[in-house]
Amino acid sequence: DNMSIAIDGPAGAGKSTVARLLAEKLGLLYIDTGAMYRTLTLSVLREQLDLSDEDRITKLAGALNIKLSNQPLDNKVFLNGEDVTEAIRQPEVSRNVALIARMPAVRQIMVNIQQSLAEKGKVVMEGRDIGNKVLPGATYKFFLTASPEERAKRRYRELIEKGYEVSLNDLVRDITERDNTDRTRLTDPLIPAPDAIIIDSTNMSLVEVTNNIIKLIAA
Ligand code: C5P
Repeated sequence: DNMSIAIDGPAGAGKSTVARLLAEKLGLLYIDTGAMYRTLTLSVLREQLDLSDEDRITKLAGALNIKLSNQPLDNKVFLNGEDVTEAIRQPEVSRNVALIARMPAVRQIMVNIQQSLAEKGKVVMEGRDIGNKVLPGATYKFFLTASPEERAKRRYRELIEKGYEVSLNDLVRDITERDNTDRTRLTDPLIPAPDAIIIDSTNMSLVEVTNNIIKLIAA
């Protein structure tokens, strides 16, 4: 019984919150694939690698020691044993992650890891390209969207809560730029899988979204 749920969608659509709530309510492991690309990006920035040096970045990706604690209420991220849960959310990482995540060789490495994590059992995996590429055979696929303004507002609240000084306008711009970078890959990760259920959460709370998904699964 390897029930798997794939959650895709653009930045700030509520994927993490919804995936965590689902994992908690349904007793699934929670896998945040964005955290993996973020951890690699943090490492690239710390090592001051040239962001266009695909070969070195790919080598670093292959050697990266990432550990995700996949419990829904305790999803910490470790890089070589260091807790980088907070560090990978820095605006500087957010600004650069899409550039690194679009490198095909990097993706291949990450996708292999993600697929092996899913083999271990019941998972809810969230990110980009999960329903199309990583888990094409997922039991359920959902694609969350919301307007860019609403997504930027959600990010704004999160960052302010954590003490970052950010402007809403900058976040709208960053989110739109990140969508565009994600979109101009060889395959567009913001296209829903053909069998995904699309949910627009612009005017819905993320708890409502989660409850809707649970109803759909139970039906
Ligand atoms: O979901 P999150 O905002 O943490 O993801 C950060 C970035 O990582 C995304 O904008 C995307 O560029 C990249 N990503 C990806 N594939 C995934 C997850 C994230 O390319 N499966």
